[in-house]
Amino acid sequence: MPHLAEVLERNVAEIRGRIADAARRCGRNPSDVRLVGVTKYVTPEVAQALVATGVRDLGESRPQQLWAKAAAMAEEKVSWHLIGSLQRNKVRRTVEVAKLIHSLDSARLADAIHAEAVEAGRSVDALVEVNISGDATKHGVAPDAVRPLMAHVAGLDHLRVRGLMTMSHLEGGAEIARQDFAKLRELRDRLRVEMPPSIDLTELSMGMSDDFEQAVQEGATIVRVGSALFRGL
Ligand SMILES: *Cc1c(COP(=O)(O)O)cnc(C)c1O
Repeated sequence: MPHLAEVLERNVAEIRGRIADAARRCGRNPSDVRLVGVTKYVTPEVAQALVATGVRDLGESRPQQLWAKAAAMAEEKVSWHLIGSLQRNKVRRTVEVAKLIHSLDSARLADAIHAEAVEAGRSVDALVEVNISGDATKHGVAPDAVRPLMAHVAGLDHLRVRGLMTMSHLEGGAEIARQDFAKLRELRDRLRVEMPPSIDLTELSMGMSDDFEQAVQEGATIVRVGSALFRGL
């Protein structure tokens, strides 16, 4: 399907260009921002075509979809990201597949992930999801609850926190989104001073199709882009 490849190549080039421009505008290196292609809207065939354009980090929000896509694309070299919420009964299979879990939001989930990681004989990387906008419909822990959660995780040697993740206000527009992203970065900067060195807070996963440039300007190291990649298909 030449049309598919062409559209995806054009979209990926456009989005990478906008990420790079946003990074340069604030003196950041564009290569410090990773594009995670969110494939929850598309079939494994389309996801495969996206990988062919060079996007090798893919995200799914539902664990079952993550497992199914990873199985369908087992031949591809893909780093899988779970970006949506994770129930404890889905931890085992997710730990087998995901390179990074963006949705760590409770001590109980941390314990469950840690237990599977110990069982599998490896370490699992995760981001703490923060409900920075205070929106009741959003997942994630309240900013005040991040510290105690991290203190708990610091005692789990097979679960490595790598940073924070958030979703901005859905309805607020780009300016509100930018304020949310700034708040997440400021929270990260405060925590960095307080947390033991075993807690790594390098990554900030924030920004989606409508606000990834604002996220990059506020320090995102990972942007999660879905619909903008598939525009015109
Ligand atoms: C769906 C989703 C995205 C991508 O959203 P788009 O607006 O389509 O880019 C990013 N992050 C999370 C957590 C999502 O669920």
